[in-house]
Amino acid sequence: MTITLAAAHAAFDDWSQSPVARRLAVLEQLHSGLLARAGEIAQTVCREVGMPIRLATAIQAGLPATVTRTYLDLLPSFPFRETVGNSEVQYLPVGVVGCITPWNYPLHQAVLKVVPALAAGCTVVLKPSEVAPQSAYILAEILDSTGLPPGVFNLVCGPGATAGEALIHHPDVRMLSFTGSTDTGRRVAHAAADDCKRLALELGGKSASLVLPDADLAAAVKGTVNSCLLNSGQTCTALTRLLVPADRHDEACELAAAAVARMTPGNPLDEATRLGPLASAQQHRRVLDYIRLGLTEGATLVTGGPDAPEGCARGYFVKATVFGHVRPDSRIAQEEIFGPVLSCIRYSTVEEAIAIANDSDYGLSGSVWTTDIDRAAEIAGQVRTGVVAVNSSAILDMASPFGGFKKSGIGRELGPEGFGPFTE
Ligand code: NAD
Repeated sequence: MTITLAAAHAAFDDWSQSPVARRLAVLEQLHSGLLARAGEIAQTVCREVGMPIRLATAIQAGLPATVTRTYLDLLPSFPFRETVGNSEVQYLPVGVVGCITPWNYPLHQAVLKVVPALAAGCTVVLKPSEVAPQSAYILAEILDSTGLPPGVFNLVCGPGATAGEALIHHPDVRMLSFTGSTDTGRRVAHAAADDCKRLALELGGKSASLVLPDADLAAAVKGTVNSCLLNSGQTCTALTRLLVPADRHDEACELAAAAVARMTPGNPLDEATRLGPLASAQQHRRVLDYIRLGLTEGATLVTGGPDAPEGCARGYFVKATVFGHVRPDSRIAQEEIFGPVLSCIRYSTVEEAIAIANDSDYGLSGSVWTTDIDRAAEIAGQVRTGVVAVNSSAILDMASPFGGFKKSGIGRELGPEGFGPFTE
């Protein structure tokens, strides 16, 4: 770690003063490299994380190239210098940035940090998750083949307890950009505070899908199930709480069970698979524990449960599970399960539905379903989360900012705001 940090430190002066055109040239080469190696990236992440290959191709391989293109488009107009009255304001690169990333969208999470950091003129040390590090090696190989000077991008692999701790406490790191669980985020925040490092955190979520009485219930439930089961539920923005009018609860549960039944579990390398295994033994244990907890908390098991899906006894497979009659204050409704588990919650009035949506430590994403578009915008504004979709479970345009309220994070990635954390 010391040698790597010394390299990043030594490379900073030159790279921080490089013209924007030079940075753009590197990012163009990175973009081409990501496109050229997309098939290999999809295969790598599919094998490591278990996301079905069709989705891994579109998302795990597709998003990193899209995000890089977005920053390529934004960089020329970023106001590194602007005039305010008789002052000139300069946005200078923050220094050496320590990037720490999770395993669920491993290359995407890395690119979300590395690309704007390099674009802003910072040097970078990336520590990917020990659970899924291989796509970071592909990123390193691509960057190594560009005109990037030695020491500007550095890769250090290893567990959080050793490599991660060494990085967050190193005095040469001036900014920590972290994506992962809220518990680890807290540790990173303490380390940043101890040394007055700059900090950005992208953390967990427990997002609500708020189905208003006038909504198309079938479309809302289908969209919610798709979001909840994306990457076998191992998605920070997953809609995991389905809030429905009390008199439509049973119908919503039936629709959810039907939508889940269409999600064929199996080998993620098979094109027909819709639901892959979980990423690790630890995840497998954690999710099964939550499913058992749901049963003891008194929720109704609509579909799924703790047994392995048929034909999937080997591997970290979990049945997609829907619970009905879930109490909003129960642990399965409050805690991030990070698996294919949906909680259906009843409400009486729209005001109560908004209150339930906001009764969470988290605030990452959400969804509002209604045929009244004006009302949708108004209600979306009352949901205390970083992103709210309307009649959709799609997250957002990659050129707009993303990030969490409350224990879902501090700061924003993507969009013009994405450069901010990496500048002084
Ligand atoms: P995690 O917190 O266990 O690990 C994330 C990273 O932190 C890994 O690289 C890990 O090695 C490292 N780490 C662990 N302990 C550390 C320590 N003591 N010091 C420094 N680094 C340490 O999270 P995970 O299981 O990899 O990822 C799942 C979590 O990430 C979920 O909570 C999910 O919601 C969240 N996530 C959030 C977003 C977002 O944008 N908000 C995106 C993806 C994932």
